[in-house]
Amino acid sequence: MQHASETSAPTEAAASVAQFRANLDAVQKRIDKACANSNRELSEVRLLPVSKTVPEERIRMAYAAGCRFLGENKVQEALEKSEAMADLTDLKWSVIGHLQSNKAKFVARFADEFQALDSLKLAGALDRRLQIEGRSLDVFVQVNSSGEDSKFGLPPEAVLEFVQQLPAFSSLHVRGLMTLALFSADEARVRPCFERMRDLQEVLRQDAPESLSFDELSMGMSGDFELAIEEGATVVRVGQAIFGPRAVPDSHYWPGTS
Ligand SMILES: *Cc1c(COP(=O)(O)O)cnc(C)c1O
Repeated sequence: MQHASETSAPTEAAASVAQFRANLDAVQKRIDKACANSNRELSEVRLLPVSKTVPEERIRMAYAAGCRFLGENKVQEALEKSEAMADLTDLKWSVIGHLQSNKAKFVARFADEFQALDSLKLAGALDRRLQIEGRSLDVFVQVNSSGEDSKFGLPPEAVLEFVQQLPAFSSLHVRGLMTLALFSADEARVRPCFERMRDLQEVLRQDAPESLSFDELSMGMSGDFELAIEEGATVVRVGQAIFGPRAVPDSHYWPGTS
């Protein structure tokens, strides 16, 4: 099993189409291997490249290398990029970071997917705004699988009750769950976060309203996506292993990290 610290993460920012192709290739090989190790089909796992902090010029290179669906943590940044690259008509955007209800209107305007649903207030705001825009949105419920105060998302034990309210919001198409595991190089501490998600998925498949789907599990990032795939991830959100290291510290995106 590869470990976060042993994987060959790129040491510099990808700055050519060829470099993006090579990085995407390396990530795909890691995905292939994790699927083989866990007897899963490659088609069950979607790679979502995460382009936060990456400027337009380099995102266009990633597009040229084949990326068509990008994850962004902050809605303002995502909206600006989607407007600047509106000429790339088949490029889609997934908002994967915490969202305040008063910013729901931005997500409703352009996003194809939202992975951080964590309150009924936000569900209501998104649904209202989507009705106005005449759009619908694929959503994932964010779960705090590590129990850390610094992480967003609902505690696992609150999710079933939460999702029972979601059929009221007809513009939201619930697809599954999203989580960020504990940040640690210690596999024995990371894996239980992913296992918790898989267990929760089973409960929801049994007991959640039938109009909702919980087929998707978005979990795993550059340092831990092999483990996540072994535990059932269907979407892996990968930034640095594709785009290279970020200049902006992660505390800008996640409270409580450095
Ligand atoms: C930045 C980010 C990722 C990707 O992290 P990397 O370590 O760059 O792969 C995944 N999920 C979320 C919510 C993020 O903000």
